[in-house]
Amino acid sequence: MSLLTFRALQSQLPEGATLAPVIIATDKTHLTQFAGNKSAYPVYLTVGNLPKELRRKPSEQGCVLIGYLSVKKLQEGKHLTQVEKKSRLQRLFHASMKLILKPLKKAGSDGVEMVCGDGAVRNVHPILACYVADYPEQCLVSCVKYGTCPKCLRDNDDLQEDTPSDRRTPESTIDLIRSAASEATSPSNFEELCHISNVSCGTLKPFWEGYPLTNIHMSITPDVLHQLYQGVLKHLILWSQDTMTEGELDRRIRCLPPSFGVRHFKNGISALSQISGGERKEMAKILLGCLVGKMNNQGLRACTAILDFIYMARYPSHDEITLGYMQDALDRWHKDRHWFIDMKIRNNFNIPKFHSLLHYIDSIRLLGTTDNYNSELFERLHIDFAKEGWRASNHRDELPQMVKWLERQEKMSSFQSYIKTCTTEPASPHASCLKNVSGLSITIPKHPPSPKFPIDLIPKQNDCPSFNRALREYLCSLSSLTIHPSHTEAIPFQKLDVFHGFKFTPSSLHEGDIEIDAVKAMPSSKSKSQRYDTIIAIDPSSENVESTGLEGE
Ligand SMILES: [Zn+2]
Repeated sequence: MSLLTFRALQSQLPEGATLAPVIIATDKTHLTQFAGNKSAYPVYLTVGNLPKELRRKPSEQGCVLIGYLSVKKLQEGKHLTQVEKKSRLQRLFHASMKLILKPLKKAGSDGVEMVCGDGAVRNVHPILACYVADYPEQCLVSCVKYGTCPKCLRDNDDLQEDTPSDRRTPESTIDLIRSAASEATSPSNFEELCHISNVSCGTLKPFWEGYPLTNIHMSITPDVLHQLYQGVLKHLILWSQDTMTEGELDRRIRCLPPSFGVRHFKNGISALSQISGGERKEMAKILLGCLVGKMNNQGLRACTAILDFIYMARYPSHDEITLGYMQDALDRWHKDRHWFIDMKIRNNFNIPKFHSLLHYIDSIRLLGTTDNYNSELFERLHIDFAKEGWRASNHRDELPQMVKWLERQEKMSSFQSYIKTCTTEPASPHASCLKNVSGLSITIPKHPPSPKFPIDLIPKQNDCPSFNRALREYLCSLSSLTIHPSHTEAIPFQKLDVFHGFKFTPSSLHEGDIEIDAVKAMPSSKSKSQRYDTIIAIDPSSENVESTGLEGE
């Protein structure tokens, strides 16, 4: 949550009270990979007061599981229509959430005394501030008609407008549903009236009704993974394939030379099934370069604008200037997107995920940068909070077993952290500094591809004529050996293991993302041509080292 919103909400609480913005996330996940269709529907809770670096690390336990929702299919009521079945499931969802979050309502209005990290006892008011979910769940939670915007009143036929409409409010949503219910003459008429008002007819009692200081529509967060990568970018790739052919785009992607930090799709992308968010991110890096020559300038400008927007939406910090860049990218997209209609690739842009871009800047101002409530974080938690528990069960009536297993895990880990606080001394600033400096780790394979290779042949075989001198310089720098780089005395060994590359973890632009990159130095073989990557390394002993630019490197 941004500081401004935090202060605005805090000012509405009694004097001396402390605000804890609560972030809730719900997401269904499959427990079985291939056979069977077992799934779980966990509800996660975390608070906005935690720094995002801690919240994002599952090992820090900044997020907790507070319940599993039902995933059972409706056994009775086979005679029900599709809409009636959906309404029943929606009522079940809201009733379950009401039960799970019941303590939050009272605690939010009266406050609860809590011991804070500094040892002081404060009267804390937990307020539901963010709700993280994918698009179908956003509609389910906020009780809006599927296909419309959960945040504003724009009709589904007008989603392509370049400005959002008036904001929805929880009170008006409930009023619309209840007045439709009182006017309706039959269940199907009720459904019709709700759809005219752009609300859903599932429940008359949403779980968030009466929550202090909560506006469910405003608390729906942007969703970078599903909206931008699996939504907007997916559409853009499909449209790009339509402008040429799938085969032509694949051919262009295959032709790209392998390079640092960019995945090389050696078979193209059209044959990939079940594309992950990570793969989409890699595609975003190379897409634009593959479109040149197949789109005119207007088409390219439109694609550049949307790729710029996606990239900036992930910034880990924002100010008015960078938010201005985002708005500029969005304006450029609206100006040039007509190209896709002119080329008859699209008829319109009434797509909810494209409309959602209009709410990003506002949401970042209100709730903070998108890495605070990224749905990837909660998807990662499925491993610890659902899949591991499922594996520990005997796969029959699994939920009670999973809950018990998780309870035991939590008890063990809190005992472990208690033992840790009892036995470790407070960390000195010097120690943490050392840890930061040695953050970069390099890994090489256990077995070298060219073991015990004669030293004399290394320069020719690996195309590195200065190898012998570099080796002498290195040996000279080791104090236990007395070899001078310019002297000709023999090196006391004849063979060396030769590695053709190493992997390392670069410091990421986006904190929390773990990237592993590889540097290759491979001589040509029967099947592959040679590849020698260029690397630029910082020499930490140089006084001119800069974190940006090339001076001192
Ligand atoms: Zn909207």
